[in-house]
Amino acid sequence: MRERQRYIDSHPLCRAQHERSQAHWLNGVPMHWMTDWGLPFPLTVRQTSGATLIDLDGHACADFCLGDTGAMFGHAPAPIAAALNATAAAGLTFMLPNEYTARAGELLADRFGLPCWQMTLTASDANRAVVRWSRAISGRDKILVFDGCYHGTVDDVFVRAEGGCVVPRPGQVGQIVDVATHARVVEFNDLAALETELAHGDVACLLAEPVMTNAGMVLPETDFWPRARALCARHGTLLALDETHTLSSGPAGHARQLGIAADFLTLGKAIAGGVPCGLFGFTASVRARMLDVLAAKPAGHSGMGTTLAANALATRALVACLESVMTPQAFAHMNRLAGELASELETVLERHGLPWNVVRVGARVELSLRAQPARTARESLEAADAAIEHALHLYLLNRGVLIAPFHDMMLISPATTRVHVDQLLQAFDSCLRELT
Ligand code: PMP
Repeated sequence: MRERQRYIDSHPLCRAQHERSQAHWLNGVPMHWMTDWGLPFPLTVRQTSGATLIDLDGHACADFCLGDTGAMFGHAPAPIAAALNATAAAGLTFMLPNEYTARAGELLADRFGLPCWQMTLTASDANRAVVRWSRAISGRDKILVFDGCYHGTVDDVFVRAEGGCVVPRPGQVGQIVDVATHARVVEFNDLAALETELAHGDVACLLAEPVMTNAGMVLPETDFWPRARALCARHGTLLALDETHTLSSGPAGHARQLGIAADFLTLGKAIAGGVPCGLFGFTASVRARMLDVLAAKPAGHSGMGTTLAANALATRALVACLESVMTPQAFAHMNRLAGELASELETVLERHGLPWNVVRVGARVELSLRAQPARTARESLEAADAAIEHALHLYLLNRGVLIAPFHDMMLISPATTRVHVDQLLQAFDSCLRELT
């Protein structure tokens, strides 16, 4: 109550802006769920710089949310801003390739080890396309996912396991298709269940994050991915890895670090430095099968692609990001600082005698309210406590620290400094002192 009042009292301009927006925006916001941050009303952003966000009332926050990964490399990194300025004068969108397209393809292939690519506007779009292509080239209908996954607004995988059945996830608006009939769901890290489901022989692709990042953070067990990869190959199922979030692991993402070769790879959010851009890459064999499908299909819409995808700004920003932003030096800084944050958060937890743990995937640090790291999303979600999370988020924000909503994620960018980290640790420490 005290913290809510403090937020209200200190954000009169944000409040006025929200009240004004009520008339013409659903829920007073441009995306209705922007009110789900657990705040009395949303923060309105005036400006950002590096890893700092300034709200309309003039408060500067150390930003560890970073647009839930979109700004993983800091807000408007200089090479991206310069590239956008240079490109904007030459035209924004023309539904044709531009002079940077070939270079972008070369950079992607070199970095991620997959020879062929397609662009979309978002990671959700990329995953939707991967689902369609997998079905088209395999002639199979089922998509297999891990329980508790999130791959964007992809209808086909809004499913979960319940009592041994696949059911639609609750909360969906206006969904009339029973997507559960074309999906299979298993728990992460459960190789036996994965094998049982793949053995049906009807699974087009396994769509998965290398590390589950949307149900807290759930790490794969040591031999999980090599064995899951082998199972997919044995049962003729394509492996589609969604690296939208796990790009935090390093310059080439997580799968490459693990040495896991995917058939499809999805990228998005941060891949063009915060400019809307999604991508999916695939193997030469997948490309050959796609070309067969295109050659054989009747004329008409394929059902994939949107007018503004692969626009000039996104393509140029993608090249700038791969060449000058997502560098080994940037990741060295991000990893080092994230390592310090994770171990010092653990020290704070110990000091307060709290049986919680901290999971880190490169630049991404997650607090989990359970004693041991979770093996499955179910275990992870069972430990989540919305009341504690909301209290923590609001307390931190009132002390100038923003962390990701809906869970306890803290992301380190190349622009994040030790001062930002100290600010977070101090606020976290004093919050726990009051909570315990
Ligand atoms: N994949 C993963 C793993 C995600 O977490 C998200 C969004 N959080 C997406 C895809 C979709 O990204 P977008 O909302 O930018 O389409």
